Amino acid sequence: SRPLASDLEIARQAQLKPIAEIAERLGLPPGIIEPYGHHVGKIPLEAIKGQASRPKAKYIVVSAITPTPLGEGKTTTSVGLAQGFHHIGKTATVALRQPSMGPTFGIKGGAAGGGWSQVVPMERINLHLTGDIHAVTAAHNLLSAMVDNHLYHGNASGMDLNQVAWRRVVDINDRGLRHIVTGLGGKANGLPRETGFDITAASEVMAVLALADSLEDLRRRLGQIVVGWTPSGEAVTAEDIGCAGAMAVMLKEAMKPNLMQTIENTPVLIHAGPFGNIAHGNSSIVADQIGIHGSDYLVTEAGFGADMGAERFFNIKCRASGMQPDAAVLVATVRGLKVHSGQHRVVAGKPLPDSMLTENPDDVRIGASNLRKQIENLRLHGVPVVVAINAFPTDYDSEHAVIAEVAREMGARVEICTHVKDGGAGAAVLAQAVVEAAEEPSHFEMLYPSEMALTDKIETIAQRVYGADGVDCSAVAKRQLAHFTAQGFGHLPVCVAKTHLSLSSDASLSGAPTGWRMPVREVRLSAGAGFAYALCGDIRTMPGLGANPAAAAIDINEMGEIEGLF
Ligand code: ADP
Ligand code: MG
Repeated sequence: SRPLASDLEIARQAQLKPIAEIAERLGLPPGIIEPYGHHVGKIPLEAIKGQASRPKAKYIVVSAITPTPLGEGKTTTSVGLAQGFHHIGKTATVALRQPSMGPTFGIKGGAAGGGWSQVVPMERINLHLTGDIHAVTAAHNLLSAMVDNHLYHGNASGMDLNQVAWRRVVDINDRGLRHIVTGLGGKANGLPRETGFDITAASEVMAVLALADSLEDLRRRLGQIVVGWTPSGEAVTAEDIGCAGAMAVMLKEAMKPNLMQTIENTPVLIHAGPFGNIAHGNSSIVADQIGIHGSDYLVTEAGFGADMGAERFFNIKCRASGMQPDAAVLVATVRGLKVHSGQHRVVAGKPLPDSMLTENPDDVRIGASNLRKQIENLRLHGVPVVVAINAFPTDYDSEHAVIAEVAREMGARVEICTHVKDGGAGAAVLAQAVVEAAEEPSHFEMLYPSEMALTDKIETIAQRVYGADGVDCSAVAKRQLAHFTAQGFGHLPVCVAKTHLSLSSDASLSGAPTGWRMPVREVRLSAGAGFAYALCGDIRTMPGLGANPAAAAIDINEMGEIEGLF
């Protein structure tokens, strides 16, 4: 087998096709694509109507066991699977989130797949792309400026200065901006007020971009964003501030999905990048509406483990889009299940400890409690499951055998894949299993109806998906739930913001923890995006940089090429 070069070195070997040719593979009419250079293009939303008469693809969601801090390979498997379909004579498209630049310059690690299963050009996807994230930043911050200006010029809405919910955003990891005071310098410079910055991926505007199904819907959702509250508990919205129209104008180009390709020239839709904890963590609905009529299969990745990304994919995204998944792929790794045995600990940015590199099927078997629960979580939604064993060079056959045995015991299909080393050929068996799973009748159903009370939705997710005995809401959270319900937001789905490193809300608990209760500290509203979110524990919405940020190793050489980017 070939030795693995760096992701960037491999990406540079790709034989890229002109973007118009990739658009043709997706069934788009000639001339519709708006090229951004030779290998990236934007797809105007007219394509949704244009594609609608074409045959419908099978809709495949890629999820995972509860991940380690290293990631278990959902993105590489989504890309590898799409490539794999071509090796068995099917056509496929993959839809992914746009990576934030925060991690690109923070923690080293590919954000667009890896090895021979990557999206290219990788420099483009990891840096700026077509500027959508910048547009989200600008639209968000225009609203911030308009809110402060509204307060400065008389506060006609009567907003409570202590209940302004709208902060500012930037797509850089900058911990010093988490808590700031604005408006210093005397009366002419605004009202002094405590606020802060989040990373752009955590902006509600990003979630709105991902969940809107048309420009009109984008405009409507932006208007519904709640920026603050009056002392008597009335919501003040972006519409009230008079900003929603201008925001929609700023996002007009960003609403068009970006077309790219895999290293094997499979069409890739890159669009929107909402956070995976305080938001739903999936790429955009409009990209899926185009992709679902583009080929035989549309593959999309849902962030974090099946308890989080897939649960939100089903209950938030599919609820909003009306689309129904035909099968789910659950990525499992030996290293991940070893961590779930509770015997090992891995740290982001550090090599695996020696204890994890020895042949140890017993630890994999203990950790497989997590695999069982995550298979169950997908089944709760009535979707056929295929377990993808994402093989690493450090794995042993005996360890793969344990995963396969557990998956089969649970009645799931299971295949070993080597797409990172071998490209699509390494995921051909996985693709075949997905073809079969997607032929089974899917009995897709939401976990809860929209009419269920917010409190009961949180209980349902915690008990049925996370395995909690119940939920303990703080006094503040109880008050907020009652308030949101009274204000007419009770029909919204709930996004539970908890750690992604455990099925429970305690990151140190591995496997499939039982006998615990989930504390809900606070509940917030993303009324424009269309969900409420419950905070369980400390959730960072502005990351910091580590002692050795990746940025320090990134440079431009004499040839004008980028160096050190993964
Ligand atoms: P996720 O999407 O689940 O977070 P990724 O697909 O981004 O995970 O993979 C996480 C990291 O692990 C990436 O740096 C990727 O290149 C690497 N990786 C994933 N699968 C493999 C594999 N089979 N062999 C080697 N490295 C891998
Ligand atoms: Mg990923």
